[in-house]
Amino acid sequence: MKIACVGGGPAGLYFSILMKRQDPGHDITVHERNPAGSTYGWGVTYWASLLDRLEEHDPESARAVRENSVRWSDGRAHVGDRTTTHRGDEGFGIGRRTLLDLLAERARALGVRVEFEDEIADGAELPDADLVVAGDGVHSGVRERHPEHFGTEVVLGRNKYIWLGTTKVFDAFTFAFEETPHGWIWFYGYGFGEDRSTCVVECSPETWTGLGLDRADEAEGLVLLEKLFARPLDGHRLIGRATAGGSAQWLNFRTLTNRTWSRGNVVLLGDAAHTTHYSIGAGTTLALEDAIALAGALGARTGQGRAELAPALDAYERERRAALLSVQSAARHSAQWYENLPRYIGLPPAQMFALLGQRHSPLLPYVPPQLYYRIDRAAGRLEALRRLKRWLGPRVARTLHARRG
Ligand SMILES: Cc1cc2nc3c(=O)[nH]c(=O)nc-3n(C[C@H](O)[C@H](O)[C@H](O)COP(=O)(O)OP(=O)(O)OC[C@H]3O[C@@H](n4cnc5c(N)ncnc54)[C@H](O)[C@@H]3O)c2cc1C
Repeated sequence: MKIACVGGGPAGLYFSILMKRQDPGHDITVHERNPAGSTYGWGVTYWASLLDRLEEHDPESARAVRENSVRWSDGRAHVGDRTTTHRGDEGFGIGRRTLLDLLAERARALGVRVEFEDEIADGAELPDADLVVAGDGVHSGVRERHPEHFGTEVVLGRNKYIWLGTTKVFDAFTFAFEETPHGWIWFYGYGFGEDRSTCVVECSPETWTGLGLDRADEAEGLVLLEKLFARPLDGHRLIGRATAGGSAQWLNFRTLTNRTWSRGNVVLLGDAAHTTHYSIGAGTTLALEDAIALAGALGARTGQGRAELAPALDAYERERRAALLSVQSAARHSAQWYENLPRYIGLPPAQMFALLGQRHSPLLPYVPPQLYYRIDRAAGRLEALRRLKRWLGPRVARTLHARRG
């Protein structure tokens, strides 16, 4: 089978690896517009279950990912000068650049052609292939050729965010909230290497303009943020771009969905198909899981070396849509939690941190926070109550939502 992957992000690269492993006879090219080793963003988080899945599908890349990741086992929240630590929240961080480098290396070793600085321009013909995989990210140009067919919908998040790095190496997953005369501003930080951490800064649009961040250039903005977060950063620097060229931008998160994920021999993968708010740290994992599902669906429907495309693409889409439902709901509620920060930030530290951990809950927006906290504590001790809470949550949320609507 001749396969062209547009975009050498985690989705496209991992898919090419899995297809080559399935059948070394596949002719696969990954077209990536950026030069090797240059990418946006800093480190990404993931959880142990991803390593298990990678291990199952390609032990070689699983080992490389594990060896190049850092691990944390605690969560910490700074609210002004108060600090709360929660033991036992385990997770991993890996530099996005490292992840892409090692996936590209593995793909090449298996015989995939990984072509850097090879942009498939908007007006240009798509590569001639049996299957064209659009792994070209949230702004997918391949998808944008047929927006009506794909039925793309985008919901813009209300808050402003910027994806930064820092020389501070966090030893726990760190949240830091600072109050300013213009409202709250906060970051989530996590280590991903020996000398760097990721730092995603977020605030409401009112705080953003009130602080003058809308008018500041990158250097001025970083100086202001370093001052605001001097305490949790221990005076360390913030860094805009991982590589030279361009500057870090303040953005509104785009939650993207598509009515359908394929058109003829073209299929959407990863962020091109769907996005989930960064505050649940799942986009890369979902992109890799898409790749696993698509390769699996194609492999299961291969006759005489050539996949029967349409049923395979349908099966892939069905499987992934079902798997995404709960994650998309969690991401929506998590984004809303931060958009409603004043509702939670004044609670006693232990309660605030507990509800921060519960931000995915569909019930939380509809129950007074302190009551929710008490129910949650009781549910933690009483399994029956926890089941009731799980059963009740979506129902109460649906009813209240319908009434408000
Ligand atoms: C602030 C922030 C924090 C995040 N943190 C996390 C996290 O902690 N954990 C996590 O799992 N996820 C995280 N994510 C999400 C994650 O970055 C994405 O979900 C993931 O990168 C999607 O992978 P992908 O391969 O689908 O797309 P991308 O990684 O976007 O890759 C697409 C590739 O296609 C290339 N490309 C685009 N157009 C063309 C073209 N025309 N021709 C050739 N190449 C092209 C691009 O250069 C790019 O390399 C975060 C996202 C944001 C915004």
